[in-house]
Amino acid sequence: MSTSLLERLIEDLRCLPGVGPKSAQRMAFQLLERDRDGGRRLAATLIEAMDRIGHCRRCRNYAQDDLCPVCASPSRDRQLVCVVESPIDLAAIEQATGFRGDYFVLHGRLSAIDGRGPRELGLDLLAARLADDGVTELIIATNPTVEGEATAHYLAELAGQFEVRASRLAHGVPLGGELEFIDRGTLALAFGSRHAL
Ligand SMILES: [Zn+2]
Repeated sequence: MSTSLLERLIEDLRCLPGVGPKSAQRMAFQLLERDRDGGRRLAATLIEAMDRIGHCRRCRNYAQDDLCPVCASPSRDRQLVCVVESPIDLAAIEQATGFRGDYFVLHGRLSAIDGRGPRELGLDLLAARLADDGVTELIIATNPTVEGEATAHYLAELAGQFEVRASRLAHGVPLGGELEFIDRGTLALAFGSRHAL
């Protein structure tokens, strides 16, 4: 028995993150019942995006052109480069901070188990930028996980080879948080990276 088109639609919707069988079914029925035009537009945009969005040749962020909007902008500070694990992290920093420097996207972190080494993270590209781009500070914004910390350590050494200052995001107590509810790892890190007032 072959799968019906409706079953295929529901199954394919499940490739979206966080979408289980129930929500996939709801989405399919919603589109069929109320928004066929929206569904057609979504399908067309998905195809175009999957075909045309590649990686910026300078920072490896997603880009539909050779350079992403940040790298193409004349008003960013080229001396500062913030390294992030993923384009989502980059978007979060763009939205939450007034950072006006450049970025570099690793698309992962160093992981021996997953076979991700410096080459997979594009670190040769980053090294080339540190070597001749007038970069003065590498801001390391990898996640505070074991692998993220190992990656940060590696990046700091890389920066050192080019006499570029490396800095790490401070990890600490969340705003509005209370000490007794914070996990011990976060509290220990925050205590360790305290600064003078
Ligand atoms: Zn870029």
